Amino acid sequence: MADETRRAILSAGVATAFSAFTARVPRAWVFSAPREGDMAEATRTVELPGFVDLQVNGFAGVDFGDRALTSEGVLHAVAAIERTGVTRFLPTLITSSLEAFSVCAKTIVRVANPAIAGIHMEGPYISPEDGFRGAHPRSFVRAAEVDDFRRRQDAARGRIRLVTVAPEAPGALRLIEHLVTSGVRVAIGHTAATGVQITEAVKAGATLSTHLGNGCASVLPRHPNPIWEQMGEDRLLASFIVDGHHLPPATLKSMVRAKTLARSILVTDAMAAAGMPPGRYTLGGQEVELSAAGRVAAPGASNLAGSALRLDVAIGNTARFCGLSLEEVAPMASTRPAEYLGIPTAGRVLASWDPSRFALRVLRVSGS
Ligand SMILES: [Zn+2]
Repeated sequence: MADETRRAILSAGVATAFSAFTARVPRAWVFSAPREGDMAEATRTVELPGFVDLQVNGFAGVDFGDRALTSEGVLHAVAAIERTGVTRFLPTLITSSLEAFSVCAKTIVRVANPAIAGIHMEGPYISPEDGFRGAHPRSFVRAAEVDDFRRRQDAARGRIRLVTVAPEAPGALRLIEHLVTSGVRVAIGHTAATGVQITEAVKAGATLSTHLGNGCASVLPRHPNPIWEQMGEDRLLASFIVDGHHLPPATLKSMVRAKTLARSILVTDAMAAAGMPPGRYTLGGQEVELSAAGRVAAPGASNLAGSALRLDVAIGNTARFCGLSLEEVAPMASTRPAEYLGIPTAGRVLASWDPSRFALRVLRVSGS
């Protein structure tokens, strides 16, 4: 048999098997296969609900975790974030001392701007191990204690709305129960937890995986490992950083398929370098560098330390990497995270969408 004939028979077989499969599965599981003619589709204007970002460490030169943070700095960042279509977001503070956290949280909550939907506290109750800990300073990683959280929540005047915790941190389960009872959402992240520990955290009330696939050692047992355990846990939604550096396209595509569109959320994990040229910036007061390729890491280190991503760009990247339409991806950055937090989306984003380049360009943000 000629090679061409063999290839034709094989591809016909695969196509038949695929249509038989897609006929049986729920619509939410089926992704739009790239259609012929997609490349020729013209740029169009779209109107979308305002975007919601659950994880923003800083923006436009401003580091929310810098104790020298000012109200003017917060407002400068808010204005720049809004220009990317984000009308609600959670300023995020990574692992730090109670004192440093309190200084920054007080400054953030003093700014009465509706775009600030609360604070995401990422750490300090996370894995102390290299790799899993990511860019979080080891010296401030600590056991999970309700009293320590209460002090931080008091400093934030009750505005901490999401906490990322490692289930294996001593005291984590008791803290998760306390958080959930007091209306705070709980995410799993920066964790080396076993499957049993993840299940226990979910039973205690954890509902999200923070930046699934990152905050992990670079070498893991093939299975089981914390990524598979969270991917297979249907009670957990997952957030993803789609800047092209945190997750390779095939990894993102596989993870989004595993979680389904209904349980997938896009976050930027943006830090001060977002919206800025390459150079040196800070993340939680530590020096990091944005490379010309758009990668953020401590100088000379391999671990990523936040991103310089914008949520409008993340939407385009996700459509490109997963073979999804704009209509399928946009809710992952607006209604889904809003529903997760229990808030409505705010305002409308008028944008142009070029499907041939997967480019979403925000033209106007209104009514936020
Ligand atoms: Zn992180």
